[in-house]
Amino acid sequence: MHPASAVRNFLLRPAIITTSTLRATTKTTTRTMASSCSSSSSSSRYEKIPSTQIRILRTVPSLRLFRRPHLLDHRSVALVPTMGALHAGHLSLIRAAAKENHHVIVSIYVNPAQFGISEDLDSYPQTWESDIEQLAKLDRELADDGSNLGRISAVFAPSTKEMYPSGFPGQEIDSKGSFVNITPVAEVLEGKTRPTFFRGVATVCMKLFNAVQPEKVYFGQKDVQQTVVIKKMVKDFMLPVEVVVGKTVRAEDGLALSSRNVYLGQRRRKVATVLWRALRAAEAAYLEKGKRRREEILGAAKEVVKEVEREQERLSPKGRVRFEVDYISLADPESMQELEEVDVERGGILSGAIKMLPVEEPREGEDLGHSGGPAVRLIDNIILEPREEVKA
Ligand code: AMP
Repeated sequence: MHPASAVRNFLLRPAIITTSTLRATTKTTTRTMASSCSSSSSSSRYEKIPSTQIRILRTVPSLRLFRRPHLLDHRSVALVPTMGALHAGHLSLIRAAAKENHHVIVSIYVNPAQFGISEDLDSYPQTWESDIEQLAKLDRELADDGSNLGRISAVFAPSTKEMYPSGFPGQEIDSKGSFVNITPVAEVLEGKTRPTFFRGVATVCMKLFNAVQPEKVYFGQKDVQQTVVIKKMVKDFMLPVEVVVGKTVRAEDGLALSSRNVYLGQRRRKVATVLWRALRAAEAAYLEKGKRRREEILGAAKEVVKEVEREQERLSPKGRVRFEVDYISLADPESMQELEEVDVERGGILSGAIKMLPVEEPREGEDLGHSGGPAVRLIDNIILEPREEVKA
């Protein structure tokens, strides 16, 4: 055994086996072993995505039962946490995970704790049938591509009762319960507008990491502050897991793919690229024009936003799109605190959030988007990579 694996296994074991889970696991193991010995078709007793070997696991004991032999066999397990409504961005993370791990577990769980009380929990797209179809298709693709180490082995789709065994603590800011808070990084930017968001994310990720015990977890750069929060949680709580960040997958016009894009409808979808264009302008000010100061870099982004606002104002209510900028930020890559000037050797993160407001006057038969086209908050970012400064 590689010494690093030995250390990892040693670290993983005490967390997996508490006395109660050991009891539950042992009982189920006995049952499963008995049934798997009884007939060669016993594996069909497990719930699976039709026509695949992908197991559907709904409880933590069943997940642990599935996980344990891979730990003992030194087969690496990756976790890709999602809230479902899968799109090419999620699939790219699963592909990356299958390249470098023997088993990929995709979790699909819409975690209520990361939605504020007035947010879109009730209308959040839930597309189970399409999700499992996409996973089955991707798994066939992975099987045909010999360069992968593994495939999708399981989907973990728990209920809220399963994820919050002491009862769901609520979505309010002052809810009481077992929460993970990563401050101050979770208090700025997204955390300022959505004060319970990162508490919900960090808490559910801690639960998922403890339940799955993955060697690696895969997150998208699309939610860059989330990756910073999760990396900090892993570092500060000494979790034995590696955080891998996959590039943002975009539509042809640059809009970052997001499960929430379905709310936009055609009219707003066209204008929704404004944030990406603004961030690109800021990036160009930094990379191409050599600007380093905040006002110069963010000034370029704000110019793009103003120009698009002016264009839209010239249109009638039946044609125009309105949006509000929540923030456009230039922040430190580790603390997410705002920067006055970029230190080239440290780099920075350009990020932003805009709220696409509902269409004022719909045209006859106009496609307004999922749930009648409510206000949609979009986020995006560009990383200014650190590099060695060439001294004159
Ligand atoms: P969600 O289902 O929205 O919670 O996202 C699950 C994971 O997919 C997160 O790590 C996201 O950052 C990632 N993700 C979402 N959209 C994209 C995208 N366009 N490109 C790459 N990763 C993404």
